[in-house]
Amino acid sequence: MDVKKSFDTLARKLYGRPVHQCTEHELYHVLLQLVKDLSGERKENDGDRKVYYISAEFLIGKLLTNNLINLGVYEEIESVLKESGKSLSAIEEEEREPSLGNGGLGRLAACFMDSIATLGLPGAGIGLNYHFGLFKQVFTDRLQQAEKDEWINDRSWLKKTDVSFEVEYKDLTVKSRMYDIDVVGYENGLSPLHLFDVESVDESLVKSGIDFDKTDIAKNLTLFLYPDDSDEAGNLLRIYQQYFMVSNGARLIIREMKEKGYDLHELDRHVCIQINDTHPTMVIPELIRILTQEEEFTMDDAIKAVSGTCAYTNHTILAEALEKWPLPYLERVVPKLVPIIKELANRVKKEHKDDPSLWIIDDEKRVHMAHIDIHYGFSVNGVAAIHTDILKNTELNNFYKLYPGKFNNKTNGVTFRRWLLQCDKPLAAFLDKTIGRGYRKDAGELEGLLKYKDDADVLRSLQDIKRANKEDLARYIKSHEGIELDTDSIFDIQVKRLHEYKRQQMNALYIIHKYLEIKAGKKPVRPITCIFGAKAAPAYVIAKDIIHLLLVLQEIVNNDPEVNKYLKVIMVTNYNVTYAEKLIPACDISEQISLASKEASGTSNMKFMLNGAVTLGTDDGANVEIHDLVGDDNIYIFGADSDTVIKHYEKADYVSKDIYDKSETVKEAVDFIISPECMKKGHKENLERLYKELLNKDWFMTLLDLEDYIKAKDRIFSDYEDREKWQKMMLMNIAKAGFFSSDRTIEEYNRDIWKLK
Ligand SMILES: *Cc1c(COP(=O)(O)O)cnc(C)c1O
Repeated sequence: MDVKKSFDTLARKLYGRPVHQCTEHELYHVLLQLVKDLSGERKENDGDRKVYYISAEFLIGKLLTNNLINLGVYEEIESVLKESGKSLSAIEEEEREPSLGNGGLGRLAACFMDSIATLGLPGAGIGLNYHFGLFKQVFTDRLQQAEKDEWINDRSWLKKTDVSFEVEYKDLTVKSRMYDIDVVGYENGLSPLHLFDVESVDESLVKSGIDFDKTDIAKNLTLFLYPDDSDEAGNLLRIYQQYFMVSNGARLIIREMKEKGYDLHELDRHVCIQINDTHPTMVIPELIRILTQEEEFTMDDAIKAVSGTCAYTNHTILAEALEKWPLPYLERVVPKLVPIIKELANRVKKEHKDDPSLWIIDDEKRVHMAHIDIHYGFSVNGVAAIHTDILKNTELNNFYKLYPGKFNNKTNGVTFRRWLLQCDKPLAAFLDKTIGRGYRKDAGELEGLLKYKDDADVLRSLQDIKRANKEDLARYIKSHEGIELDTDSIFDIQVKRLHEYKRQQMNALYIIHKYLEIKAGKKPVRPITCIFGAKAAPAYVIAKDIIHLLLVLQEIVNNDPEVNKYLKVIMVTNYNVTYAEKLIPACDISEQISLASKEASGTSNMKFMLNGAVTLGTDDGANVEIHDLVGDDNIYIFGADSDTVIKHYEKADYVSKDIYDKSETVKEAVDFIISPECMKKGHKENLERLYKELLNKDWFMTLLDLEDYIKAKDRIFSDYEDREKWQKMMLMNIAKAGFFSSDRTIEEYNRDIWKLK
């Protein structure tokens, strides 16, 4: 296809004008249509074994630029636009980011779809089409407010299909509708993302903020991702949603099996279902139910077929994140699944009478969803080496002893198309020129950079690219947040969901420490810019208090003329994929400071490294593997290691107050939270609650690592002044990032679990 000609023809067809006379708004629509036409020419791999990646989240980000790159027409389109006096980046602004995910887990699913398509594997995604997504974050009075995120309009990538199923609950039946988003692989392949919706959904149910009538299921089922579950109605709604996802998924899979003429007894030969965290776990009992009740399978045969089909990915060891549904809730929503779940539970209980920790239904009649996955799936994987080791040796040790062969590690990865080619075009262009374009498909080729580690020109170029990206980010933040950044300063960035285990509060305490030092006359040699981006779950009180503290510090620090020459704090609004793509290429220091053992993998650590940032982190998640790859000289590791942390939990001997009492530095920083300065700009209730939490509980051991963190951070700032040393660290990080391509991860999933052709 002559892309240039089709572009113009399409513009004339849709708007009766040539490209140069169309507005950005119109051109977005034209390009959307053009990409849909081009991807329509790609064929899905219809191999005889297929993976279905089923996930409550797909945090795919904007698609226009990514699809143009993957279709291989980006440069052509860009030049046509340029000739017509238009800019692609202005047109990009017209696209709304799909709000279909929360954080790393959903972003992982999106990267995996990209790699499945690129590698040409037979695979599809299955999820839900949330109309208002997670939520849109705004700040008023230095507090997070949640608003509905209206991302769907007549210009979205969704394609309505004619696939529709009936989904039966105890008290109602709803009709589903499948929408597809085509995931276009890089220069190859196409995989559909199937998103199910309910036909009766009623957006007008949401009046203000994100509140709505949680009981009107037919109208509210697909309004929000992770509706507030702090009450019973919210819990029930989540079960309604999960069942909706798996029921449609199961129907689709069985229908495709039949269409291809396969015998359902060979389900495990033709299908692999990868269960992303526990949200889709009910697909196991649902498939067993369908096979036994509608397809004349015996219970034994159905269990065998389904167990051979389903594989489970664990994403966390946090107890509160492992779902346990009360059996009475399941009885109220999906009573027909209950006998199946009981049957599965009884088989386990019979086999393991003496070990209740292995049971599916516990003494309090709660159904442990992960236990269903482990007993009745054929594979259990963690998402980074240390995480899988902790699962095997600690958290799931009793299961590991029972099924050693099921456990395996698949260290996460990210797609380099979005996280390098798309978000850091200057760096990609420089790499093309320096080491050739091979790294675009074979990420290992980034190691070609190593031979330039003493080449002053190459090192200087990396620094210049970083500098230009910092200027781009400064412009973006100026226009979106109204805050001016100093591009000579060090950009120190922590962006990720807000959670106490990720310890944004520790970073806040460092800022307080630095602020007090500057006030006392000790000034940093170079200004520091601390950037945060994070959404807190609306029902997570302390997380919202931490956001409040960050916004209060932003106000105090940035408006203090004695301090703001040396230190700035910016909490960006509504952190999402679009924002991440601006922030990551501009970062000098990547903050990965979770309490060791708690961050299963992390993936932003990989994105930052790939874009030449240096990691300041704990020995946790994939930081451990980054550390192994780049060596001690190219990363800053601090804090207690995971063994120490796990022992503290076992012995229950961590007392934050002891550390506070012993260390003047810690005490000063913590006390500042309730100082008159903070109280003047903030709210007493929020600040006091956070102060007390740190002093009396501090479940994620912030104070334990604070002093070591301060030391490491001051060391990294001082090393930054040795510009050549820093440039070399940038180079080493980029060169060693190849391992973290999601293409590698997907090849491992395929080799060990999916076994697709
Ligand atoms: C990569 C990414 C994440 C995951 O970040 P972690 O620091 O690994 O938790 C979350 N949100 C967005 C928008 C991302 O792009």
